[in-house]
Amino acid sequence: MTRRLDPLAWLDVHAAGREEMGLRRRLTPRSPTGSLLDLASNDYLGLSRHPEVIDGGIRALRTWGAGSTGSRLVTGTTELHETLEDELAAFAGTESALVFSSGYTANLAAVTALSSPDCLIVSDAANHASLIDACRLTRSRVEVVPHNDLIATERVLAGRTQAQALVITESINSIDGSRAPVRELHRISRAHGAVLVVDEAHGLGVCGLGGRGLCAAAGLAGLDDIIITATLSKALGSQGGVVLAPGRVVEHLIDTARTMIFDTGLAPACAGSALAALRVLRDDPGLSLAVVRAASELASAAGVAPPPSAIVPVVIGEPGPAVEAARRCAELGLRVGCFRPPSVPTGTSRLRLTARADLTPAELEHAQTTLRAVLADRSLDIASVLAG
Ligand code: PMP
Repeated sequence: MTRRLDPLAWLDVHAAGREEMGLRRRLTPRSPTGSLLDLASNDYLGLSRHPEVIDGGIRALRTWGAGSTGSRLVTGTTELHETLEDELAAFAGTESALVFSSGYTANLAAVTALSSPDCLIVSDAANHASLIDACRLTRSRVEVVPHNDLIATERVLAGRTQAQALVITESINSIDGSRAPVRELHRISRAHGAVLVVDEAHGLGVCGLGGRGLCAAAGLAGLDDIIITATLSKALGSQGGVVLAPGRVVEHLIDTARTMIFDTGLAPACAGSALAALRVLRDDPGLSLAVVRAASELASAAGVAPPPSAIVPVVIGEPGPAVEAARRCAELGLRVGCFRPPSVPTGTSRLRLTARADLTPAELEHAQTTLRAVLADRSLDIASVLAG
């Protein structure tokens, strides 16, 4: 009898390679009470634990049940989904809104439903994986331009031969917290008859007046050639995604977007929590100011420039020292994000600190002291890790 070959043996070889490069990832459960101070989550406004947000989820759960029970097109739409959509659109300043089970599926919907084989997509090189995957699902020509490069964007659009064009960017980059030049991107897009798609996953709740996002701040929300996507799982502390767009775009998505038609609708508890969070945010414009202020203070302790967002990137270089710096922070009671390739380009492994609006002065001081201590020691860490 011939010995059966293990068809998955290559997995072990790949895992060993990642181990050697310091690229293994581990899932670390957090404790419900949070023994470490959280500077790693995307709970920018601290709303995931806000009593009204929790109550909103519980009420929805009791009223509508645990699951949404089907596609939005069949049984997965409740009055709660519709109220959430109305209030999200009113808040962001767009004509309509359509809620999805995640920001990922919202991005897939917006990009795939608005493109065709006769479409040119200009995609920023730093775009989130969900936008990249969305582009891959289209049969359009996709041109990737350097991050925030207006000249390259204009050049690509000027040479277009396709009937349609989309320009896709994040308003606040998820890795480096930088701001996209959305007003200029819109001017260029409009001049070339392209539609601008802006992912406000990290902008909603943080940027603009009262957290209405960068597009609203730039006077773009509500225009007929802008499509905004966002997640309900970061500043709003819940789960889910949304496309904020003109009514006819939303109608087109309902008719044609595969992640609208074939995915189960957003769970009622998530919709209820997101709605409650949106109302808390709407009633407290100070929340978005508080998170950006906290980010500035963290940046100053880490010795990097203040960001226009909640995200403070601290570039370390190689993955090993970055992991070591994150480990030391954890030892001193601070949970920080650590990004390595393929999430970031080789040689730019980094700590990613995220501020929260609800950090107390004592927590902020603890975070600052810890960051100063760990990062002052960085060259030693790098040497020791490399030696080890
Ligand atoms: N876009 C960006 C820029 C993101 O950072 C994320 C989440 N990391 C998403 C989309 C996806 O959102 P969700 O987690 O709700 O699927």
